[in-house]
Amino acid sequence: MADHALCVHTHFCLLPRDVTLSGAQFDPMGGVLHDLNEKLAATCYAPNSALRNFERLSYDFGGAMTRWLEENTPETPAQIVAAYQAYRAKWGVGNAIAQTSQHTVLPLAHERDKALQVRWGIQSFVRRFGYVPEGMWLPEMAVDTPTLQTLYDNGVKFTILSQAQVSGATDGAGPYWAVLPSGDRLAVYVRDDWHSNELAFGIKSLGGAGRWSRNTLVPLRREYGRLLLLALDGETFGYYYPGEEHFLHWLLYYEAEAVGYEVTTLARDLHEHPPTREIDVAENTAWNCAHGLARWKEGCGCTSGDSRWKSALRNAMDNLAASLDEIYLAYAQELGVADPWQLREDFLEIRLGVVTQEQLLARYGLAHDRKASGLAALLLAYFYSQRTFVSYAYFYDDLDRLEPYYAVTNAARVVTIIHRVAGIDISPKLRADLALVASGKTGKTGAQMFDEVLEYAHQHKAV
Ligand SMILES: [Zn+2]
Repeated sequence: MADHALCVHTHFCLLPRDVTLSGAQFDPMGGVLHDLNEKLAATCYAPNSALRNFERLSYDFGGAMTRWLEENTPETPAQIVAAYQAYRAKWGVGNAIAQTSQHTVLPLAHERDKALQVRWGIQSFVRRFGYVPEGMWLPEMAVDTPTLQTLYDNGVKFTILSQAQVSGATDGAGPYWAVLPSGDRLAVYVRDDWHSNELAFGIKSLGGAGRWSRNTLVPLRREYGRLLLLALDGETFGYYYPGEEHFLHWLLYYEAEAVGYEVTTLARDLHEHPPTREIDVAENTAWNCAHGLARWKEGCGCTSGDSRWKSALRNAMDNLAASLDEIYLAYAQELGVADPWQLREDFLEIRLGVVTQEQLLARYGLAHDRKASGLAALLLAYFYSQRTFVSYAYFYDDLDRLEPYYAVTNAARVVTIIHRVAGIDISPKLRADLALVASGKTGKTGAQMFDEVLEYAHQHKAV
């Protein structure tokens, strides 16, 4: 039996490449994006599934893209779930882990939203895979102690961080204990940054999985710990680099074993090798940025040009969320809802098709009337509001691109719902906040983007 083990964890995370408004497709980038969803599915998700890579990978899947796949190419997600269930039947644990619900940078989220993101992520996972997840992916690997505590409090057993985010990781990928101030302990796997990035950015020049295994895995056996973890974007294999799903296949099925590595996954590894050592986690760190969390907050040298729009956009979305809180709480109080935050959490059950709106409202003693429907609409507004914090909206260099449009489009939905349900127009405040945000490239302001989206929605009777 091999005394070394390899785990490849792939993070599938891309947003659907269009910005839909209730079925009507608002495409700020001029009509070329919709095809990209099909291209993503055809070059990455479907071939990796056909090659049975999901039977040996550890992975997590984003909710928005999964929903697109379920609606457009349902055979692929069905195959992936079947592979997961077969894995579970064989090993007693699953090989997929959960992702938080809207890919929010959790250390930047308010405490209540942080818990919501984790719980919604678990609910979505249970709905899709049929089991409670053992582990959870932190979007952008963004971490702080309250985030780790939130994972622990919600039954998550492990997460993944980068070498650059921890100290004391002396035995390869671990697992290690992160000891929390409460005394609780969460298991952490530490990815090998260098070799993960070698695949993520240089896979084309590696000469195939066989050569890479001989050149890299063989010497690593002498100098590394028991487990080597590679963690990277799953879209590397086929979408970013066409055909490289075969690299993954050969690595997982033949080449790693040929040089003395057992291919494993994290939940299985944790079951067989519980942590014995501790590590320290660096607060407010992430992958893809060496400046703390600045890339998603005030901007940093990771993106070129003027990045002041990032903090202004986040401020606009924070203010919008605060307005929604105020209006929702008043509305819920009027209806005598004892625990409006629990109701907000339970709302996702409607979205996932677990219960009907009527059933959920009945659980809270609410009749199915116009007032209660208004409350349900405000809950839907929360779902859209959570999307305005998706990490990608703040990740790139400029405001005038698809991802910030995604945030602004969802903000417009929040405004529209509040207006319809509560008769309050909060758009002047949001427009004023968004007027402070401008693209360094095109000069377009967030307020112009907002008006564009509203105009489109009005014409198409969407939102
Ligand atoms: Zn940075």
